[in-house]
Amino acid sequence: MEPLVGVALAMRGLVRRGHGLAVACALAAYVVGGGATAPFGPAQAAALAAWTVVLGTRARRKVTHTGDSSVLLDVELGALLSVALEAVLLRYDGGLTGRLSPALYVLVTLVAAFARPGAALVVVAWMVGLEAALRFVTLRETDATGFATHTGFVGAFALLNLTLLRAEVARVRATARARIEAQLVRIKEDARSYRLLGAGEPNDRDDVRSDRLARASVEEIHQSVHYALDLLRRSFDLHTAVLLWLNDAGTHLRISELSTASESVHDAPFAAGDGVLGAVLARRARVSLQSLKPSFKVPYYDGPCPVRALTAIPLLDGETLRGVLAIDRLENDPFTPHEEEVAGQAARFCLRAIQNERVFLQLERAKVEQGKLYRAAQALGAALSEKDVVDAGVKAAREIASFDLAAVTVYEAETRTHEVVAAKSAGGEIDDLVGIRFSHNAGLVSMVVQNRCPLPYRGEHEGANKVVLSKRVPWPAHPSLLVLPLVIHDRALGTLVLGAKRRHAFGDSVRPTLEVLASHLAVSLSNARMVAKLETMATTDGLTGLFNKRAMLDAATQKVAAAARFDRKLALLVLDIDHFKKVNDTYGHDVGDLVIKALGEVLKRQKRATDVVARFGGEEFVVLCEQTEEKGAMLLAERIREELQKTSFRASQGGFSVTCSIGIATMPEAGLDWESLFKAADEALYVSKRSGRNRCTAWRAPASRKMAAGAR
Ligand code: GH3
Ligand code: MG
Ligand code: MG
Repeated sequence: MEPLVGVALAMRGLVRRGHGLAVACALAAYVVGGGATAPFGPAQAAALAAWTVVLGTRARRKVTHTGDSSVLLDVELGALLSVALEAVLLRYDGGLTGRLSPALYVLVTLVAAFARPGAALVVVAWMVGLEAALRFVTLRETDATGFATHTGFVGAFALLNLTLLRAEVARVRATARARIEAQLVRIKEDARSYRLLGAGEPNDRDDVRSDRLARASVEEIHQSVHYALDLLRRSFDLHTAVLLWLNDAGTHLRISELSTASESVHDAPFAAGDGVLGAVLARRARVSLQSLKPSFKVPYYDGPCPVRALTAIPLLDGETLRGVLAIDRLENDPFTPHEEEVAGQAARFCLRAIQNERVFLQLERAKVEQGKLYRAAQALGAALSEKDVVDAGVKAAREIASFDLAAVTVYEAETRTHEVVAAKSAGGEIDDLVGIRFSHNAGLVSMVVQNRCPLPYRGEHEGANKVVLSKRVPWPAHPSLLVLPLVIHDRALGTLVLGAKRRHAFGDSVRPTLEVLASHLAVSLSNARMVAKLETMATTDGLTGLFNKRAMLDAATQKVAAAARFDRKLALLVLDIDHFKKVNDTYGHDVGDLVIKALGEVLKRQKRATDVVARFGGEEFVVLCEQTEEKGAMLLAERIREELQKTSFRASQGGFSVTCSIGIATMPEAGLDWESLFKAADEALYVSKRSGRNRCTAWRAPASRKMAAGAR
C-alpha cells in the first residue's frame, strides 16, 4: 500500500507543480493536431479558457513570489506564450512565415531577458521543437530549408539577447545598487554627524529599525533645512543659501543642504580651515564680505567666484561648532543688518531642526526599550518558580541585547558558594555548566556579588586569563562580556553573565536596559524563593522536616482515592511514643524534642520511596504505604519499633531509650476512605497501648473483636 501512496503523492506534487507545463503540452498537441485553424467551437473555447486560467495563475505566481520563482515557472510561462503565439500565427497568417511571424523574435527577447538562463534555453528548444512539429506535421512541409534558417535566427537571437541584454541588465542593476548604497552611506554619515545614531555598535540587533528611524529623521532634517534655505534665497534674492556641516573630527566641511541658482556648486568635502569659512569657524563669529572678485575662493563653488557679496554665520550647538550657514548674491549689494539677523535666525532654526530630531529619536528609542522592559516585567511576574524566573530573565535579556552565551549564578552566603542555575547558548541549554558550584574567589562573578556593580567596566573581556566563574570552570574568551549583579535590598542574590562573540555587544545602548532587567530579575528571584519557602513552611513540620498534618491529609486524600479506584492495597501506620510525658518531665522539653526528631530520622530511614510520612501532632506520626498489605505493614512497623527501641539518648541526667506503640490498618479491609482508615489505625494503636505498649497491632474487623498484636 505504501509505495502506492508514495506514487500517488508524487503524482499529486508533480501535477501541482507542473500543471502549467502539462497544459502547455496538451495545448501544443492540440495546435499541432490542427486545433488552431479549426472553426471556433467548444473545443477551441475550452483550450482558450485553459490557456487563460493557467497563464493567469502562473504569471501571478511569478509576480507575487519573486523570491522563489523557479526555473519550472519560467519554462511554463515561456511554453504557454509560445503555444499561443504559434496558434495565432497559424490562424491569422495561415503559416509560420507571414507578416506576424517576427512576433516570435519578440517572444524570444522577452524570455531571454526575464527568464532564468536555463529556463530560457529550455523555452527556445521548446519553440524550435514546436515549430518543427507544426511545419512538418501540421503544415506538411517537405523542404527543411525554411525551418533551418528560422531556427538559426531564433537561436542567434536568443544567444545575443541572453548575453548582451543580460549583461546590460546586470550593469544597470549594479549601478542602481551602487547608487542606493552610496546614498545609504551618505544618509548614515549624515545621521552620525547630526548625532542621531549611536557610534560604535554597528551590529546591534535593533540596527535595522534604528537605521530606518535615523533615515527618516535625516530626511526630515533635510526637508526643514531646505525649506529655511529656500525661503532665505527667495526672500533676499540670493544666489545660494547653503548649510555646511563639520565632520566629527572637525577637520572638514560638507554641504548638508542648499538652495542655489548656481550650476557650479560642488559636493565634495573641503578642509574646514580654508578661506572665508575657515575664518568663520576660527573666530566663531559672522563674517560678511562684499566686492568679491572672480579670483576670490569660495570653497563650495567650482572655478571662479560667481558672487560679489557673502555672509557666513557659524552654527553653535551650545559651545560646540557644528557648521556654517553661508548666503551670497551675484550683485555687490552688501547684506543689511536685518538680512544678517534673519539669516542668523535661519541658522538657529536649522540647528533646532536637528536637535528636535535627536530628541525625537531618543524618545522613540526609549519607547522601544520601555516596551522590552514591560514585556520582561510581565514575563518575570508570571513566573513563580525560581527556574521559570531565571528562564524568563534570560529570554528577556535576549530581547534587549544579542549574545552567544548567558548564565545565571546564585550565591549562597552561608557556604560562600556560587551555583550556575541556568546556562544558555544560541543552541539551547548548556548542560555541562548548569548545576556547577564554585566557591567565592577572585573571579568576576564573585567580585560582582561582592561589590554589587556590573563588570567589566566597558563590557569587554579583558583577556583569556581573566577568571569569570572560577579557574576550574572555563568561560569562553569572547570579546564581549558583562556580569550584572542581581541586587535586592543591597544584597546580591547572584549574577546574570552575558558573553558575545562580536565586539561592543554590551555598549551604552543596551547596558542601562540590561541593568534594569537585572534588578527586575533579582526581585522576581527573591519573590520566587519566598513563595517556595512559604510553600515549604505550609507543608513541612519544622522540627522533623517531615510533612505536617495538612500536607499529609492532602496527600492521603489523593492516595486513598487512587487506591479505591484502582482497587489497590493501602496501609496506614499510626505511631505514638510511649510515656512521653515522663521523658519531658525527667529530661526536659528540649531533650523531648530531640527524641521526636530522632523518631523522625528513624522513619525517614525505614520508609520506602513511595511511602508518605508525616508528623501528625505532638509525638504522633503516621506512615501511609502504597500497595502494601497488612503483612508488609507489620514488618515495617516492627522495624521502626525496633530501631527506636535500640536508639539511645543522652541527657545530663544520663542515658535512656524510648519505645513507641504502633497501630496498623489496611484498605480495603478497614474501609474505603481516609477517615475509616485512620480511625481503624488509631483503634489498633489504642490496643497496642492498652496491651502494654512497645508493640504493633493490626486492626481487625469488629466482628472478630480481636486485634492481631505483633510480638514484642
Ligand atoms: P502514652 O504512652 O499513653 O502515649 O503516654 P504519653 O505520656 O506519651 O501520653 P501522650 O501521648 O498523650 O503525651 C503527649 C505528650 O507529648 C504531651 C506533651 O507534653 C508532649 N508533647 C507534645 N508535643 C511536644 C513537642 O513538640 N515537644 C515535646 N518535647 N513534647 C511534646
Ligand atoms: Mg500522644
Ligand atoms: Mg505518647
